[in-house]
Amino acid sequence: SIPLGFFGGIGGASKRGILIKGSNYLEALNNVETIVFDKTGTLTKGVFKVTEINPQNDITKEALIEYAAYAESYSNHPISLSLISAFNADIDKKRIKNYQEIPGHGIKVIIDGKEVLAGNEKFMNSENIMIGDVEALGTVIHIAINNRYAGNIIISDEIKEDSAHAVKALKALGIKKTIMLTGDLKTVGDTIGKQLGLDEVYSELLPGDKVAEFERLENQKSAKGKIIFVGDGINDAPVLARADIGIAMGALGSDAAIEAADIVIMNDEPSKIVTAIKIAKKTRRIVL
Ligand code: ADP
Ligand code: MG
Repeated sequence: SIPLGFFGGIGGASKRGILIKGSNYLEALNNVETIVFDKTGTLTKGVFKVTEINPQNDITKEALIEYAAYAESYSNHPISLSLISAFNADIDKKRIKNYQEIPGHGIKVIIDGKEVLAGNEKFMNSENIMIGDVEALGTVIHIAINNRYAGNIIISDEIKEDSAHAVKALKALGIKKTIMLTGDLKTVGDTIGKQLGLDEVYSELLPGDKVAEFERLENQKSAKGKIIFVGDGINDAPVLARADIGIAMGALGSDAAIEAADIVIMNDEPSKIVTAIKIAKKTRRIVL
């Protein structure tokens, strides 16, 4: 039978906007050794703003942002939403055909009969598009039209107000390692890692690489120590499902994430993980 104290713990957590899907997860929160965060939408707001539009090879800035927005118009990736909102005009879906989203890479689509690619350097390399060096302090979205490089758009996300405090408080609770995984550029990942005081950062990971990296981290912890993964489910649902404790961001997170997760944070604040661990410790004192 389940001790009554666990119901109190789960109920108390739900009043604070933390949905815990079983008493076993509440109990497991007492033995967390490692916390692995996804970046976008988890430690950052997931709301990118366009900071630079750099057209190349005879295209205007207006046309470049239009192609980018059209390419992204069927996706609900945070990157897509930001490019669509930067375009700030209606999208005529009749101009779009053969839409394909390649996770961790970008979009391939036909717009006005032209093949348009929008995504990262890895994606451009795999499609044999030559791009120059880009020095940017943000996430770089490259665009190619009919196999020719058309330039890039630099977008930038902000760290959540609550993230630095959460990382500090988790360390104070005795969590051994705080880690971030991201598909974004190393320059972006390392900057955020430094600002938040994370122990380790692994960047430029494809969705499959995130699973492999997570398995490696899992093997590093002690047998009784638990490992948490926190994500929004966009390109990371397999890791959420695999973790001892998978935590999803409920507001921005995808339905797949909420489904795959063991714990859902309704308002997306990382410091709710600190609250959940404190509730777990208090519940254990009552139950034992
Ligand atoms: P994160 O690890 O930050 O949550 P993702 O794994 O979702 O990010 O994506 C990793 C990278 O793949 C992005 O930084 C971007 O370069 C590229 N990418 C993913 N989806 C898209 C998209 N819809 N359009 C353009 N680029 C994308
Ligand atoms: Mg993500």
